Amino acid sequence: MPKRARTLSPMPIFDPLRLPQFLKARGSKRPQLHATVLWRHLLRTPKATLDSVDFVEGFPPSLLAAVQLHFVMFTIQLVRKSTSSDGSTTKMLLRLQDGFDIETVVMRHGCTTARKVEGEKRTTVCVSSQIGCKMGCKFCATGTMGELGDLWSGEIVEQVAMASFLCNVDVRNVVFMGMGEPMNNYVQMTAAVSSLIDQKTFGLSPSRITVSTVGIVPRMEEFTEELGQRGVSLALSLHAPNQLLRASFVPAARAYPLTRLMRAVDIYTLRTKKKILMEYCLMSGVNDAPEHARELGELLTSRKEHVLLNLIPYNDTSVDAKYNAPSRKDVEQFADIVMRDYGVRTTVRKEMGSDVAAACGQLVTQEGEDQAKAKEGGKSGGGGVSSKQQLGDMEDLFGGSMLSVRKKERKEAWKGHVQALERMKHDMGEVLGGGGGGEAGGKRSITLDDMMALVHQEVAHDPTYTPQKDGRPLWKLK
Ligand code: SAH
Ligand code: SF4
Repeated sequence: MPKRARTLSPMPIFDPLRLPQFLKARGSKRPQLHATVLWRHLLRTPKATLDSVDFVEGFPPSLLAAVQLHFVMFTIQLVRKSTSSDGSTTKMLLRLQDGFDIETVVMRHGCTTARKVEGEKRTTVCVSSQIGCKMGCKFCATGTMGELGDLWSGEIVEQVAMASFLCNVDVRNVVFMGMGEPMNNYVQMTAAVSSLIDQKTFGLSPSRITVSTVGIVPRMEEFTEELGQRGVSLALSLHAPNQLLRASFVPAARAYPLTRLMRAVDIYTLRTKKKILMEYCLMSGVNDAPEHARELGELLTSRKEHVLLNLIPYNDTSVDAKYNAPSRKDVEQFADIVMRDYGVRTTVRKEMGSDVAAACGQLVTQEGEDQAKAKEGGKSGGGGVSSKQQLGDMEDLFGGSMLSVRKKERKEAWKGHVQALERMKHDMGEVLGGGGGGEAGGKRSITLDDMMALVHQEVAHDPTYTPQKDGRPLWKLK
């Protein structure tokens, strides 16, 4: 079923695009400011609802009634909320205004007893960005649904607000690892992220927002410049150590081959000086052998200062019996090789919340009318998957541990950047037929400007690799 444009009426009040547009159309001279004033009021006033507001300082009184007529606090309806027996994970089945269902998972970290459920700190929310997904990864249940629709930025933000209101938690991390490929809903995703990190409203820390992608290279490049530079974290679903194997179950790899993908990874880490999370779903007999671990180690070892590898044991879905979870022994052996032999920082995603079916590959939403049709071709949502487990990892990887070793890491990260520059320079030498590699190995220190000059040359010499937006290069090149 092809993707449909979606119209919402009433609209979500937290929509960072629609509310300012609406206010502008109604004569506001400062629509962004007025929207921010209203959001701030709703978020900071205990028990405030849009309907009950009769005056907001700094907001034009003449516009309030129109806003109340066309917008609501929540366009999403809670269908079901289930919490795991240990209280760590809550899965919310949410129905969108037009009948589609999505899932949002709330994970509370460091929670060992149900007693701590309410008000627990360090909470992560795993949000969906699309209804279904067109990328068709063979092991992912969401991929079988096709792309049924894009969420509005307001619906993405609303998932976070709902988690906070309905589960009474302080949201600290948001991961885009629910249903959908966020880079295929780029404009809405970036608007939602920008709103979530806006200090005047939601005020989340940029590095505690992680966007996971299957590897849409042009969008990753835009992301690097637009959100990465502002500190937002990126995760790449790698899943295989070489192009051939990756392309066999990740169709997107055919459009964006591994060399090009890794170049986008290097540019992200160079430009943002941030680490990138690499997700690797381990499937028995497919990509979990010691040879795969060694090949992965080879691929990542030169990038080890800015890569965090997260191994996700495959979770069974009802969609395809072809894939199986790896044995615990194989997972351990795999992690051991990449970590000990190649020095790549590696974590294994723990299974959490399986009693509420919120583990990887278990997030299934098929109750909307259109989703019911999609059911005929396959079932449910597996991408929604990573939610909770990821969450713990994310907090540990990007959060606390990053802070505690920041100084050392900065030094290491810089070393890593220089290595990446050398690699790039070497590649460039080959592309340009010059001695780039030799020079990189010499005494002259390599700066970010050098790298940008190389990228410039590359743009000139490889027209297939031109980071651009609207037909213009993303970077200001000298
Ligand atoms: N589309 C994005 C984000 C959503 S998927 C992406 O692919 O990155 C979130 C994560 O769950 C991805 O790493 C995805 O590969 C993984 N995943 C999907 N199905 C899975 C399954 N059955 N078992 C384990 N991980 C799975
Ligand atoms: Fe889409 Fe991600 Fe699932 Fe692939 S793994 S089909 S990109 S949701």
